[in-house]
Amino acid sequence: MQFLNKKIQPNLGLCILRGMEAGKAHQTFFTKQLINWHHTANDRQLPWKAEKNPYKIWLSEIILQQTRAQQGLPYYLNFIKAYPTIGKMAAANDEDVYRIWQGLGYYNRCRNMLATARYITDELKGKFPQTYEGILALKGIGPYTAAAIASFAYGLLHAVVDGNVYRVLARYFGIDSPTDGAAGKKLFHDLAQELLYQPDSAAHNQAIMDLGATVCTPQKPQCDACPLQKQCVAYRQDMVMLLPVRAKKLKIKERHFNYLLLKHKDKVWVQKRSGKDIWHNLHEFYLIETDKAVAASDLTTTPQYKALKIKQKLTHIISLKQQLTHQTILSQFYEISITNPHTEALTGGKWVAIKDLKKIAFPKTIVSFLEKNFYF
Ligand code: SF4
Repeated sequence: MQFLNKKIQPNLGLCILRGMEAGKAHQTFFTKQLINWHHTANDRQLPWKAEKNPYKIWLSEIILQQTRAQQGLPYYLNFIKAYPTIGKMAAANDEDVYRIWQGLGYYNRCRNMLATARYITDELKGKFPQTYEGILALKGIGPYTAAAIASFAYGLLHAVVDGNVYRVLARYFGIDSPTDGAAGKKLFHDLAQELLYQPDSAAHNQAIMDLGATVCTPQKPQCDACPLQKQCVAYRQDMVMLLPVRAKKLKIKERHFNYLLLKHKDKVWVQKRSGKDIWHNLHEFYLIETDKAVAASDLTTTPQYKALKIKQKLTHIISLKQQLTHQTILSQFYEISITNPHTEALTGGKWVAIKDLKKIAFPKTIVSFLEKNFYF
């Protein structure tokens, strides 16, 4: 266990390890202030807050994995409108569900969501599991999401630990154990569980996440409006921006996608992505991926381009960039009309009428291309 400031280390160590009086008082202050703030000053409005229906909580939590609340909000509302019950979602066809998900990214979340909706409907007679273990066993659900559903839907005593919680705890208690290491994770989870306000675990979990999202934010935290300020170690030691600590730096890979929008009469070629890669199950145009940015003249020398056996000149339309967590996707879009729609190189896809492109699920970068070029 590591604490930032040697002067405060003994107290905090005792607080967590042995529950001594000084540490207990520090913890009690935290929980009391947090709950009081939640009931008197927390004005964060989100439609799934105070929700008790496990289907709606589950849906919101799946959407919010790796997505900010404001970005996820319209998706949540669209899903609830289209599928007000888990049975309705289970009965939907995949393409419709992917279309609503379009733009949220991390499409394996959508795939797992559908699988879970069908599992609960078919195998559990539509009844959501009511224990932490039962929820955790569902596809696409990790400890954080299971704790959130267990406490919000059923009031079970499970503390949530997400990025907001790591930040609030690291700063308030002055902990600099890396949040992405096994020891740090255990420390934060144990501490969060110990702090949990037992009469109302749902309120506690909601409060700490909201405090992290609105007050104790990563940049420019509003310490002067924070109910924890009086006993916050990071604030008192002027170390707010140093916490929390991560051991590993995120490695971001750059990828170069060259999309050929192949046109034949009023149709375009669309193919489905498969394999273990980003955008699995979504559609795209004819793709030539290169390991660096290439000019159109270099593109025409690639085997994938030659396989098309086309003579017409490529027309460059637009360059687009999409930032994913671990990858930067740099896409070049070219347009080309072709005379032979049955060339052997075209497999795993189909010719789609331009007016029907709206019915197909595409990744965000292709949706941007279609919108900017008036296909939608
Ligand atoms: S005082 Fe500042 S750093 Fe400490 S918990 Fe509050 S907002 Fe976060």
